[in-house]
This record gives sequence, C-alpha cells and structure tokens, in this order.
Amino acid sequence: MSTIITGVSKHFGQTTALSNIDLAIDTGSFTAILGPSGCGKTTLLRLLAGFEKPSTGAITMNGQTVASQKKAIPPEKRNIGMVFQSFALWPHLKVKEQIRFPLKHHPFTPMEIKKKEKERVLKMLKMTGLDKFGNRMPNELSGGQKQRVAIARALAPQPALLLMDEPLSSLDAELRMDLRKEIQTIHRKMNTSVVYVTHDQGEALAMADQIVVMKDGKIEQIGTPEEIYMNPKTLFTATFVGKANLMRGTWFGDHFSPHADPSVIWEGNWVSPEIKEQGFFPVRPEQFQLKKPGDGIAGKVKNVMFQGKEIHYSVEIRDGSHINIHSGNEIRFEPGDHVAVIIHNPCPTGEKKLNVPSIHAH
Ligand code: ATP
Repeated sequence: MSTIITGVSKHFGQTTALSNIDLAIDTGSFTAILGPSGCGKTTLLRLLAGFEKPSTGAITMNGQTVASQKKAIPPEKRNIGMVFQSFALWPHLKVKEQIRFPLKHHPFTPMEIKKKEKERVLKMLKMTGLDKFGNRMPNELSGGQKQRVAIARALAPQPALLLMDEPLSSLDAELRMDLRKEIQTIHRKMNTSVVYVTHDQGEALAMADQIVVMKDGKIEQIGTPEEIYMNPKTLFTATFVGKANLMRGTWFGDHFSPHADPSVIWEGNWVSPEIKEQGFFPVRPEQFQLKKPGDGIAGKVKNVMFQGKEIHYSVEIRDGSHINIHSGNEIRFEPGDHVAVIIHNPCPTGEKKLNVPSIHAH
C-alpha cells in the first residue's frame, strides 16, 4: 500500500507533537522513524493507525483520504496490522488461537486466506519459528517468543501496512539481533509496507530502506541508511545517527581547517551546506586515526576502552575539547600518551558498505 502524509501537524493543547510532516511510504518499503524520546514518533504512528486525527494536513492510503482535520477512518477500517513494545497477547488464548483470531475479524483478510485458515496459522507459526509452540499459552513463552506471536498475529491477515512501535526494545541485545533478521526476512517474503518506530539508530540502519530522522516534531532528514549515515544534512543527524565529533573550524570552499590546529587541512566536499554554514566538520569516531606525535592534531589520550575488535579512545585536543575515536587494535595507546589525530577516511561517499555492527545504541 502506498501511503502519503501531506502537511500533517498534531497539537495536544499547547504541545505541538508534530509539525508540518510530509512523507511518502512506498508499497512494500521498510521505513524506520528514528528520533529521541518525545520527538513525535509514536504520535505519527498513531495517526497512521487512526487512533488520532491530524490537527492539519491529510493522510492518503492507496489514493483514498483516511485522515484529515475533518475526518479520520478508525483503525479497524484501515488495512493495517500493529505490533507494539508490550506484546499485548490475550492471556486466555493459545498461540495458534492468537494467530487465528484476526483471520476471522480483520475486515481486509483476503478470501483465499480465510478459506484456508488452518494452513495460514501453520504458515505463520513456521515463518516466525514458532512451529512447536502453537499449543502453548502466553504465560508459557519467553519474551522473544511472545514478540514473535505478536508479529505472526499482526501479519496473519496480510495487512497492506504493518505499524511497529519499538517492538524489540524490551528484549535483550542478542534476541533483538535475532528478531531483527527475522523481521527483515518476513518483510521480504510478505511484501507488506512496514513503518517501524525506534530510537535505536543501529536498528534503523540495519533494517530500513528509508529512514526518517525526527527531532522536536519535525523531520530533520529522509534518506536511505547510507545517505543518513554518510551524508547527514544537519548537525543533529550527524551526532544522533553517526555519533559524529563536531569539529569547529573555518571553511574555505570545500576545505576545512580545524580551530584545534589551523595548519591542518581536511577535504570535505560531501559536508552539507547547512553544517558548513555553522562552521563544523562532522567526523565519525571510526574516521579518525591515532598516531604517534607528528602530522595531525596534537592530543593526549584521556580514556581507553577495549571493545574486542575495536578500541574506543577519548582524546583531549589543544582547544580543551574531547574527541571520540574508534580504532583497530593494531597499535595500542594508554591514558596519558601524547598522540596525533588524523582523518584516514575523510570522504565517506567513496565507502561501499556500512559497518553497522560497530554502531551502538545510545
Ligand atoms: P518516546 O520515544 O519517548 O515514546 P515519541 O517520539 O514517541 O517518544 P510522542 O509520544 O509522539 O514521542 O510524543 C510527542 C510529544 O507529544 C511529547 O512532547 C508528548 O509529551 C506529547 N504528547 C503525546 N501524546 C499526548 C497526549 N495525548 N496529550 C498531550 N501531549 C501528548
């Protein structure tokens, strides 16, 4: 289903939860809504679901207006499925009954699925790795299994749009990784459009085709994971998604000289005009490299954290600020060491692949 949000704002009394949102969600796409607490992610999802009405603007689904200032079609009349952070399973129903229930009651369940209800339940159990759990009650399941039931239940009637609100945030890190993969696989098989709300940048980068970065009820940037990570348009996106160090300095066209050492010149034709105008150069921790004193910005190691294949350093530079550097463990520096900081990968547009596992949720 193709969904178009045009000029949507939402006010709750004095609070503006959303301000002039324009967004297109293509058929079969996976859109992640990413932003910090309170930026309006859930409100946007609730508007898509039909739990709230926009204060201004409109939402269309497959060309039909489903929400405007005047009217909002209720959730049960939209061809959507929902999965929330709390699993909200019915405590008195077995797993297979949880999945069967929406097949009967979802108004858009295709007839061929309705006719073969039993097969559909088995298919959903298999797809979500729950083959052996069909006869269990919810209180006999682990957190991850419950969340799989919630996903199977939402997808069973084959909704055109699946809305997910932080569905993995209450699970432990390993399980989150496993379920991320499963959600991606299921999405590929089902061709359902997905809107996935998260505050976890790693999750958004790993799963989505399109990321919508939000701040204070507004969209900061829309783009593919690569665009958002490699070419942030705003300082907020650079720091929220790439955990970039914001280096202050002076721009000369596409060249930048950091205040910490004006003799150093970096090339930055990829840096957005908005960031340039503010006199910054965003450098992600893995773009910096530490060397023995010499060419580069002089600094002193303040903190070292061993992280397996990477070492995370905090280095104080001449202007008194601290920069974060993630480097390989070929050379090891210790707190108190004098070092030179260089950029070893200044132009991100040349990179082919995202190194998502090294990005940690905040
Ligand atoms: P979180 O990640 O913490 O869930 P969020 O990005 O989902 O946050 P929303 O829940 O959409 O944020 O809230 C956006 C803003 O709107 C917040 O300032 C919130 O306090 C406010 N808000 C949301 N719902 C209501 C409501 N029903 N009445 C009043 N204010 C509300």
